[in-house]
Amino acid sequence: MPKAKIGVYWAAACGGCDVSLLEIDEQILEVAAAADIALWPCAADVKYSDLRAYEDGALDAVLINGAIRTTENREIVELIREKAKLIVAYGACAHTGGVIGLANRASRDEVFTTVFGARENWPKEQSTCEGHTLCLPRYLDVLTPLSDVIPVDYVIPGCPPPKEIVSQFFTALVAGDLPAAGTVFAAEKNLCDECPRDRKQEKISRIYRPHEIEADPDRCLLDQGILCMGPATRGGCNAACPRANMPCTGCAGPTATTRDQGAAMLNTLASLVGTGEEGEDALDTEDEILAQIHDLTGTFYRFGLAASTLKGHYDEPRD
Ligand code: SF4
Ligand code: SF4
Repeated sequence: MPKAKIGVYWAAACGGCDVSLLEIDEQILEVAAAADIALWPCAADVKYSDLRAYEDGALDAVLINGAIRTTENREIVELIREKAKLIVAYGACAHTGGVIGLANRASRDEVFTTVFGARENWPKEQSTCEGHTLCLPRYLDVLTPLSDVIPVDYVIPGCPPPKEIVSQFFTALVAGDLPAAGTVFAAEKNLCDECPRDRKQEKISRIYRPHEIEADPDRCLLDQGILCMGPATRGGCNAACPRANMPCTGCAGPTATTRDQGAAMLNTLASLVGTGEEGEDALDTEDEILAQIHDLTGTFYRFGLAASTLKGHYDEPRD
């Protein structure tokens, strides 16, 4: 049987997703025995011209991590879509835009001013040097998840995806036993379903950032006033962060039945905030309690602003 041809591509990403692929340990030998890696810019010197030379559908599966931030990201994922039978959105940035999607709160000019300062320091899309012309990709006005640009067959969520889920995907790929298209390789239910902490859905009369309180290791973090995104987040990581005494920040994206992860969490919180509670730290009004949330967008949409109904407040037409 001929070996499958698989690829890995990074769009706008930090590189952590590429590294996470190696966490499957010795299973990588099974993958290598069953498939040739035909594209992996992070690890192998494959040119875009090599990719263009493939016949359409020549690649069996390509895992794409990262969001779509530039015209290069968009052009290459559209090309990969033509060349690949299956596309996997790998990691939070490809899935829901990721942390970098928070830049959608600002315009391109605001982002460039913050990063490069005065306009004369901004990178030019075209410049000449010693008779040569240098072209840079255009930074798009709005960052989007992968599925906003090309059809996606599978999702492996997480920042980065947990190795158990990555391993589950490769086991199915190598065995030729992939589930129905559209499958998200994670749990259907929310994170609380797999969290070992005791959750009583107690009223919250004060909100704490994790460093402001010594959390009880057995009680639900949300019950203790620490904003844990578990109720609005898809399970599958075995509640890795709450098990380490840290709140979930929502990297696996919304549950199967949730459209907008941040709105779902706000809804949950609204039902829990309560005044008149016992305790020396308890605050008197709901406004006082909610005013303690340090960073609203970064808390409720840390990984999913670009995939939310808000998208960001910058609403000029897209390229
Ligand atoms: S700690 Fe977080 S994930 Fe665990 S039960 Fe509480 S809200 Fe859910
Ligand atoms: S607990 Fe939440 S933030 Fe942590 S890995 Fe799991 S889904 Fe991601």
